[in-house]
Amino acid sequence: MKYQSFLIKYAEIGIKGKNRYMFEDALVKQIRFALKSVDGQFEVTKESGRIYANALSEFDFDETVEALKRVFGISGICPMVQVEDEGFEELKKQVIRYVDQVYPDKHFTFKVNARRANKQYPMKSDEINRDLGEVILETFPETSVDVHEPQVMLHVEMRSRINIYSEVIPGPGGMPAGTNGRAMLLLSGGIDSPVAGYMIAKRGVVIEAVYFHAPPYTSERAKEKVVDLAKLVAKYSGPMKLHVVNFTDIQLYIYDQCPHEELTIIMRRYMMRIAEIIAKENKCLGLITGESIGQVASQTVQSLAATNEVCTMPVFRPVIGFDKQEIVDISEKIGTFETSIQPFEDCCTIFVAKHPVTKPNINIIHRSEEKLAEKIDEMVKTAVETAEVILCE
Ligand code: ATP
Ligand code: MG
Repeated sequence: MKYQSFLIKYAEIGIKGKNRYMFEDALVKQIRFALKSVDGQFEVTKESGRIYANALSEFDFDETVEALKRVFGISGICPMVQVEDEGFEELKKQVIRYVDQVYPDKHFTFKVNARRANKQYPMKSDEINRDLGEVILETFPETSVDVHEPQVMLHVEMRSRINIYSEVIPGPGGMPAGTNGRAMLLLSGGIDSPVAGYMIAKRGVVIEAVYFHAPPYTSERAKEKVVDLAKLVAKYSGPMKLHVVNFTDIQLYIYDQCPHEELTIIMRRYMMRIAEIIAKENKCLGLITGESIGQVASQTVQSLAATNEVCTMPVFRPVIGFDKQEIVDISEKIGTFETSIQPFEDCCTIFVAKHPVTKPNINIIHRSEEKLAEKIDEMVKTAVETAEVILCE
């Protein structure tokens, strides 16, 4: 079948009352953006509670569907045929042509579901259903009607033109980017943080990211890997600013001044502090991490509490209750896994102690951090000021 349009279904955003227009407009904007990368010209329109993407030129069907499958807020993608209203006899022919082309194997049960959005249409929905059902049965005797659980639900919508569709390709769900504020993702090269960013972006939050880089202990290639991950997440979230913070001096200073078994915790506290400063400068209202309870020493509940203590912003940890395998499953689904498992050193692993504290005592941590008093504020300031910004899209 040569489709020329898509009807875009959106679930969650349909129920938002007065905000509905805002959500629809955001969705239209994101669909337009996603289709820019597709070979083909499209016109995206909003028309009485419906969003359409109409092709204005030849286009690659699979590529288009793939792009739409990454737009948060879309619950279903319906390839559709739109015909002029040229009378019911002509409509019958169009419907037969549609069924014939879309379903080469005619052994299926179906139901016609007509909708009269155009109340001037001269026939009632029931009549349309019955008459179209009849002509399908006559033309293709292998088919049969099942009004309760049809294999094919054939939608025929009477509007200024007539929409015919029966396939619904699932979208990603969620809410369109830009409908829920902005947050800063702490993005490492691992498996968890890209998934965390994806999950929060899926709720309509615009995300930026910060990566703590420790050259020469972490290589340029490790940084490139994080850029690659940011680009992969950006395929869903939209273009993302990545702030690359040089963390080497701070790490070395902590290494010199503080007990080594507390290194990871203190380092993570400085990451959060710096991330929060950059977040505020960029109008972000929350931080996002890929932490999951119990996964490593720095993710015991005690460690999480100690890390969290330095933040005044809410910290979103969408994978907090997930097992590793559950996170891996999502990373495979969204396409970040292969990049995440590339073996490049992480700044956390280089300075890691043999026996890190797993139940940090917050008072002891405070005392250790006092040893940093002389230089740390200046170093944090420098780290923030010298951060490199990379636009990932
Ligand atoms: P990930 O798989 O996301 O790397 P992880 O299991 O390796 O997580 P940790 O190293 O303890 O866990 O890091 C916990 C979280 O802290 C990460 O999910 C990420 O949000 C943040 N983080 C860790 N290292 C960095 C870094 N170098 N730059 C930015 N954020 C980081
Ligand atoms: Mg990691």
